Amino acid sequence: MHSSCQKTILVTGGAGFLGSHLCDRLLREGHKVISLDNFHTGSRLNHRHQASNPDFELIEADVADPLPDLRIDEIYHLACPASPPHYQESPVTTLRTSLLGTLNALNLAMQTGARILLASTSEVYGDPLVHPQREDYWGNVNSFGERACYDEGKRAAEALFHAHAAERGVDIRIARIFNTYGPRMQPDDGRVVSNFVVEALQGLPITIYGDGSQTRSFCYVDDLVEGLVRLMASDVRTPVNLGNPGEFSVSELAAMVVAMTGSQSSISHLPLPSDDPRRRRPDISKAQLLLDWKPAFSLEAGLGPTIAYFRDVVSSQDRPSLQPVA
Ligand code: NAD
Ligand code: UDP
Repeated sequence: MHSSCQKTILVTGGAGFLGSHLCDRLLREGHKVISLDNFHTGSRLNHRHQASNPDFELIEADVADPLPDLRIDEIYHLACPASPPHYQESPVTTLRTSLLGTLNALNLAMQTGARILLASTSEVYGDPLVHPQREDYWGNVNSFGERACYDEGKRAAEALFHAHAAERGVDIRIARIFNTYGPRMQPDDGRVVSNFVVEALQGLPITIYGDGSQTRSFCYVDDLVEGLVRLMASDVRTPVNLGNPGEFSVSELAAMVVAMTGSQSSISHLPLPSDDPRRRRPDISKAQLLLDWKPAFSLEAGLGPTIAYFRDVVSSQDRPSLQPVA
């Protein structure tokens, strides 16, 4: 499709897990897509199938450095490491990406008159004292701990969005994304679903941090991308939760992964990282009401294609990076 409604859309962090699926979706809709990425946690392989598409362009750049002068209609601002081991590797880099990168993306939106969507996170709720989490809950976040570089970086990014909308008229959208998983996560990403699946497929012990009673809500990537696209198209200028309200303990997830992979893996327990949230589940009534969106994939339905993807990766390659990071 090359219709009059073809847009030019920038996806920062387009080479990452969510970004590459979003690029696919936008290209399928007939738009021109520019991915801007520095490959910090993303991979060139995620763009391999898009490289020959004339509507696709890749700019290798750090979003925290001055950005090129682009003429674009929309910006999906996703650039930021998302997995705790990665964002904690260099907290200064993570904060630089969230603060300067978001400022740059907002300035570009202002210059070119683009609508801009922030990939914010359920981490803005921290270790929540309210359950499930609604958008009007202000959160319980440690500003001085291991997760602060990510959590406070995203909270500041939301504040930057609010300030640019209020003072400079930028047309903003904010998605608070809850744990999302699926094909194209890096095998060494370090988040729980990819770790457990890679461990199970390799017959390694499944590494549960703490006693495994902490809960998360896991959203399949296709559902999440649908939510992002609907939010961008909407007129909702306040934060919206996007996630799957099904809530599972980490132990329940481990048991499901072991059963679905047919693995002989044992369970091993490692210390719980500091400030690890106890419970997390989105209240998605705002997205249901205003975006007519709710997830279609159950955890079991989403784990199927995810396991199939990692089975291919694990069997076709034998590289040290396949070891999940703790
Ligand atoms: P990811 O690590 O796979 O993708 C992040 C992408 O951003 C990578 O391609 C990385 O190379 C790129 N990047 C990082 N720093 C950059 C910089 N300074 N300049 C340019 N590119 C940079 O993670 P993901 O899961 O795809 O997450 C994408 C976004 O969604 C992130 O902003 C993350 O905070 C947010 N989010 C994700 C989840 C989730 O569960 N997947 C949950 C909440 C929020
Ligand atoms: N986790 C785990 N084993 C792993 C990786 C993570 O038990 O190999 C736990 C982690 O401590 C947390 C939950 O799984 O309680 C989700 O972790 P993840 O890093 O995926 O996301 P986040 O904590 O940012 O929600």
